[in-house]
Amino acid sequence: MSSQDKKQNGATQNADQTTTDQLVFQDPTKRYPVISPPAKALPGTGLDSEMTPKADLGEKSYRGTGRLEGRKALITGGDSGIGAATAIAFSREGADVVITYLPEEESDAQEVAEVIRADGRTVETIAGDLRDKAFAKSLVEQAVKALGGLDILVNNGGKQVATESFDDIDDEQLEATYDINILAMFRLVRAALPHLKPGSTIINTTSIQAYSPSPTLIDYASTKAAINNFTKGLSEALAEKGIRVNAVAPGPIWTPLQPSGGQLPEALPEFGQSTALGRAGQPTELAPAYVFLASPESSYVVGETLNVNGGMPTP
Ligand code: NAD
Ligand code: MG
Repeated sequence: MSSQDKKQNGATQNADQTTTDQLVFQDPTKRYPVISPPAKALPGTGLDSEMTPKADLGEKSYRGTGRLEGRKALITGGDSGIGAATAIAFSREGADVVITYLPEEESDAQEVAEVIRADGRTVETIAGDLRDKAFAKSLVEQAVKALGGLDILVNNGGKQVATESFDDIDDEQLEATYDINILAMFRLVRAALPHLKPGSTIINTTSIQAYSPSPTLIDYASTKAAINNFTKGLSEALAEKGIRVNAVAPGPIWTPLQPSGGQLPEALPEFGQSTALGRAGQPTELAPAYVFLASPESSYVVGETLNVNGGMPTP
């Protein structure tokens, strides 16, 4: 794509004003603008409501087709970004959902919950820290109570902090990143398993970083490689129970994770432009992958990592 095309394509930067949905035949290079976010960090873990430009969570652009009728899903990190887009898509497909997130993200969570309630579905919002072992267990219990059971677990919450050099990864960051990204998955699966009947699905969020680690993200990238391996091992262990485990590996997606320290600020203006499609992905473009892996139509897909990355070659 020429820089002139990129400029024209980027005339409107906000992606949440699209009038099409995911089932409309369209050019993927032009479905969303090429964004050039400011080189400015958001505080804390970041809020969707403070993103410039706005991201598309699917509020006006995800059309359901009844693929998750009556299903009960727990989604970690469901307040914003990919998890929020997945929660909205699941509800449009007929599922009831519980979303969990950090307490400081309450306002984002309530906005997502409003969208889901407007669709007439049940949604419960539960704030807490995935690093807290007791919370991981009580979260599953609360979700089962709110939903009357559980048959989809989406392990999506995550931490990504870019550093100028390897030496800048201190123990605090290293332990938090491993705790949130991979150890919490073990704990949540352990707590959820007694409730998961045959036909249930577990979907983990990994990353292109699992295969192509950036020198600025060595701790994060290594957790994502671990998640791919965990997904395959767990899928082998649970298949005979009729529980399928798979993963989704996003490429560069415009979510609060990125401008809140996930990228060095100077990398933000070019975010996503090196993909084959020439633009960053929007959170709602991930949702169909989670819907597919959660729904019975993927009944023979086990231990797979589905890459949704705008064209970044993977092994
Ligand atoms: P996001 O910031 O919207 O979502 C991450 C969420 O993780 C937060 O909203 C928060 O609720 C949750 N979280 C973080 N620390 C937590 C903690 N201690 N306790 C409880 N919850 C916590 O960003 P996102 O990009 O949608 O991230 C979702 C997943 O996608 C992450 O696993 C991330 O690694 C992965 N991913 C993102 C990209 C991308 O480009 N955005 C690319 C590849 C993979
Ligand atoms: Mg958030």
